[in-house]
Amino acid sequence: MGVPLEEGEKDRPWPCNRDNKYIVHFPETREIWSYGSGYGGNALLGKKCFALRIASNMARDEGWMAEHMLILGVEDPEGRKTYVAAAFPSACGKTNFAMLIPPPALQKLGWKVWTVGDDIAWLKPGEDGRLYAINPEAGYFGVAPGTSEKSNPNAMISCSKNSIFTNCALTPEGDVWWEDMTEQPPEHLTDWQGQPWTPGCGRKAAHPNARFTAPASQCPTIDPAWEDPKGVPISAFIFGGRRMSEVPLIFQAYNWTHGVYLGATMGSEMTAAAAGTMGQLRADPFAMLPFCGYHMGDYFRHWINMGRKLTETPRIFHVNWFRKGEDGRFLWPGFGENMRILRWIVDRVNGCGVAKETPLGWVPPYDGIDWSGLVYSRKEWEAVMAVDRQRWKLMTLQHEELFLKLHDHLPKEMVYERELLICRL
Ligand code: GDP
Ligand code: MN
Repeated sequence: MGVPLEEGEKDRPWPCNRDNKYIVHFPETREIWSYGSGYGGNALLGKKCFALRIASNMARDEGWMAEHMLILGVEDPEGRKTYVAAAFPSACGKTNFAMLIPPPALQKLGWKVWTVGDDIAWLKPGEDGRLYAINPEAGYFGVAPGTSEKSNPNAMISCSKNSIFTNCALTPEGDVWWEDMTEQPPEHLTDWQGQPWTPGCGRKAAHPNARFTAPASQCPTIDPAWEDPKGVPISAFIFGGRRMSEVPLIFQAYNWTHGVYLGATMGSEMTAAAAGTMGQLRADPFAMLPFCGYHMGDYFRHWINMGRKLTETPRIFHVNWFRKGEDGRFLWPGFGENMRILRWIVDRVNGCGVAKETPLGWVPPYDGIDWSGLVYSRKEWEAVMAVDRQRWKLMTLQHEELFLKLHDHLPKEMVYERELLICRL
């Protein structure tokens, strides 16, 4: 069934999922077929297949946006809430960021993070000309291994009852277990394949992609407005990926079109141990490459057009929690400490954050970040924020490579933004 792919179509940069299997769009019939991709969120047809692939098409036709984004609200000490939406590719920290718990020192000052959604956002212009977002999902579908009281307590509480578990291990008491859920593994388990399991037997107890499915309402930080049909007003978009080098911790786009360029050229390094792919950069525009239901070039155009419909566009930022030093260790502590960066973003949006102009965009000076409760030196900051102009010039060649693939649908704004970046460098 469907249209057989021609040999040359294998090189199409859109829309294809990570296994290089294809999502075929039939414009005449408004049908989108997802096949060969029964993995993770693709297995639930209401999730990636409807809420992103089909919805992204409807959104383009009807003037709204369906995005692979978490939504969170930051409450400041005055009780004011600022909502942001962030697009990170799969396994780059959306769920963790959506459920962020601020470090104690910032909590004491009165900073709090509220969760609206952890994976998908639908955004529509409101009557006031701002962009409003809803989370179209009812729950969280999270990767279980690695989730613990320590790594994400909000996720652990969310799945403590009324939840579905797949491919986890079973304890003799009938509870579930997965790798790193507890520091000490239980002495006996039934593994995800039904075999007896003991620590040190050489096999994983849970499948690495074992999942929990939990009602969103059970998340302790769920935002009171999470089901408001009007949505929450979005003040900032954040793009990010897993980048071991070159990409600084945080920078802010100069304007909407520059922000669209940041989304268009984002990418992430592969973590899968698949032979030869480790550390290789995968372009993943807006974290939507596997999920956009139409041509990526037209999708960039849609983003540019949306900016024109708004009287107040969200400010756009780029983050990289994953930069590493020469010793292979992360240069940034991440997780709850990301609150310090989030706070600068909120300050910028509300007109009170200090920033420096650089070739990549606006960046916070060392003193522009609240360091209370964390020892992080000026030298460490300089390392995590460093920009090597020569290497960035080379990086624009990768941007050009993507643009060549998309050229017949690429908005010329993207070409000009690349030129401007090269000039600034
Ligand atoms: P999602 O698939 O985008 O929702 O990503 P998750 O939130 O499930 O996180 C994916 C992986 O990234 C997990 O192994 C997390 O522990 C890790 N991770 C999340 N946030 C951070 C961070 O700020 N720093 C570091 N180093 N790792 C993180
Ligand atoms: Mn997630």
